[in-house]
Amino acid sequence: MGIMRPLIAFLLVLATVPPSVTAQSSNSVAAAASQIAKDLEPIYKQLHTQPELSNQEEKTAKFLAEQLQKIGFEVTQKVGGHGVVAMLKNGAGPTLLLRTDMDALPVTEQTGAPYASTVKVTDEKGSSVGVMHACGHDMHMTVFLGTARLLQQSKDKWRGSLVMIAQPAEEKVQGAKAMLADGLFTRFPRPDHCVALHCAPELPAGAVGVTEGYALANVDSVDVTIRGVSGHGAWPHKTKDPIVLAAQTVLALQTIVSRETDPTQPAVVTVGSIHGGTKHNIISDEVKLQLTLRSYSDEVRNHTVEAVKRITRGLAQAAGLPEDRYPIVTIANESSPATYNNPELSQRLLRVFDRTFGSDRTVRTKPIMGAEDFGLFGRTEHKIPICMFWLGTVDGARFKENQGTGKPLPPLHSSQYLPAIRPTLETGITAMTSVALDLLAR
Ligand SMILES: [Zn+2]
Ligand SMILES: [Zn+2]
Repeated sequence: MGIMRPLIAFLLVLATVPPSVTAQSSNSVAAAASQIAKDLEPIYKQLHTQPELSNQEEKTAKFLAEQLQKIGFEVTQKVGGHGVVAMLKNGAGPTLLLRTDMDALPVTEQTGAPYASTVKVTDEKGSSVGVMHACGHDMHMTVFLGTARLLQQSKDKWRGSLVMIAQPAEEKVQGAKAMLADGLFTRFPRPDHCVALHCAPELPAGAVGVTEGYALANVDSVDVTIRGVSGHGAWPHKTKDPIVLAAQTVLALQTIVSRETDPTQPAVVTVGSIHGGTKHNIISDEVKLQLTLRSYSDEVRNHTVEAVKRITRGLAQAAGLPEDRYPIVTIANESSPATYNNPELSQRLLRVFDRTFGSDRTVRTKPIMGAEDFGLFGRTEHKIPICMFWLGTVDGARFKENQGTGKPLPPLHSSQYLPAIRPTLETGITAMTSVALDLLAR
């Protein structure tokens, strides 16, 4: 998932004051969260040291299931792959779903932290690759466990049902779909609201952010195979050169966003990889392109996909290729629809955060073109209101340095990305618990 927009100067104040001091000391949730954050720091480090890739979260899921059972939840495992569903019933009332994801990424950690991951796996191509929680899902899980514990401790302050889910394969945008297909909303109580958080690599630890409406983008991974008619490099007139055609196609694709989509509607068309040919003097058979397409509305999404098909085909025709050598365009299954934060629920979260943290720690964030599959929970026939909020993770001194000198902050998925543990945990547990107490108020 993606990267935050530049931040507002007032957050600088935050960087100078530890969040534990800015937290309203009268707030009992914050006080309890502070203690729980301290207790859970070793668990965060353990999760950080033992990352597992998408669809391989077996040990992580087992660990979370055991922890939730210990806290007193009724736990079901293997829901949609390695998914975990944990329930806590507390009398009649609304049902709230809280979600964490569990998977890590094929990134070799370079943070230099004493608890850095040294895990290595062999990828599909047979090469050794490091595994790292470079998207902060280890932090999501630890906040999730802290929230479970705190809500269990404060059962007298809420009513209804808590459904806490640990979702696999977020990075491949497959886990939410798999859990829904395995009966998440039929085998378990159907939620009235769904809430999740995600680490923000550009917000200081101690801050939270909410984006109302579209928060994260539609993403489609598209593979294009541009085909030609191969031959000798010295006899180009006897061939149809797919490399020239690919070059024209890459440039023509740039006109989708600049000339075809409504300028007020965001869209991205990026060609992220291009591979073709083997040798100087051979005109090859084909060139392979990999694209990422991003947008918010379904209309723009459909238009960009159709435009890629039309342009690649039209240029192949212009090059004089026979129809059976026209390009092949496939949409990969790593595609995900936009995350739409229900405006009413977003407003409610903002009110809770303003009250809990004060307006200086509550940021109205802008939408980003990153992706998430959390949006799927709000796109079933039941149209459940959902909201994913941002949790600041940047160490105070680092944030201040960034604001002063412009020294870049490592984005999500970077081998350098490392949250400041305690203030992030404390704020995350406080934020999630406060939201749950508000939505399940007695
Ligand atoms: Zn990610
Ligand atoms: Zn993520």
